[in-house]
Amino acid sequence: MNSQISLIQQVDALLPQTQCGLCGHRDGCLPYAQSIVQGEDANKCVPGGQPVADALAELLNREKLTAEESVWPIQTDGRPQRMKAVIREDECIGCTKCISACPVDAIIGSGKLMHTVLTDLCTGCELCIPPCPVDCIDLIEDIQPLPNEEHRILEQNDLRNRYYAHIQREEKQRIHRKGPVVRAEIDTQLFAQFSTQVQAVPSIEISQKPTETTTAIDAKTTIELAKLRTQIKKLEKQLSIRMDDKKLVQLNELQQQLISLQNHQ
Ligand code: SF4
Ligand code: SF4
Ligand code: SF4
Repeated sequence: MNSQISLIQQVDALLPQTQCGLCGHRDGCLPYAQSIVQGEDANKCVPGGQPVADALAELLNREKLTAEESVWPIQTDGRPQRMKAVIREDECIGCTKCISACPVDAIIGSGKLMHTVLTDLCTGCELCIPPCPVDCIDLIEDIQPLPNEEHRILEQNDLRNRYYAHIQREEKQRIHRKGPVVRAEIDTQLFAQFSTQVQAVPSIEISQKPTETTTAIDAKTTIELAKLRTQIKKLEKQLSIRMDDKKLVQLNELQQQLISLQNHQ
């Protein structure tokens, strides 16, 4: 098991950490790394292009395969053109959907306020584009000089760490989330398991759902509170038409019950 983890880690180290899902693994590079170790072809990373496909073939001692084609032209380093997202800020309605879609937390902004992309962090993965309801995100060519090998590794390590931090944040929100999940369902268990065995990544903890007993008690209390409120309203209405001492005592009792139940919630 440990040797398999170590091999997955070596494969993952060669992947660009764009977390774009273009390899068919919608929740990122680690699931593809695991699948490669289990036998999947190692030429499917689109942003990595031919250099990554060849490096993987070498590492795994496999036949070299032609890399999956990108829609972008090839740069001088043999990889597809790097892109960046830019938000047309005057059109942004501040809905925040792009924030949870971005795997590396490169977008800042808050509800109802315009959003902006931190271009230094953006990998051009395009994942923020489909969820945007007003289609105000453009992709432009990244004109920064290409990173050397050392810089690329630092960049990949940073992206990996940012993605793990993103997963942990999403995991914490999962239980209480009301709206839909914008990004693909992430195999958080896999990332959590990997993070306990690899020193170099932030650890991910699985959030536990509240136990069924708590939920049952909460549901019971909510029903009881609703009943009490209805009875109180009914009595108040009757008393506003005609005073009745017996009903007044009853009303006081119900109000006391309501207060005590609310305090124990
Ligand atoms: S960069 Fe994208 S295509 Fe390449 S391995 Fe990661 S998720 Fe897959
Ligand atoms: S801002 Fe958009 S394109 Fe850039 S990394 Fe985030 S999701 Fe990907
Ligand atoms: S999804 Fe589009 S409209 Fe919504 S905050 Fe992001 S850029 Fe703005």
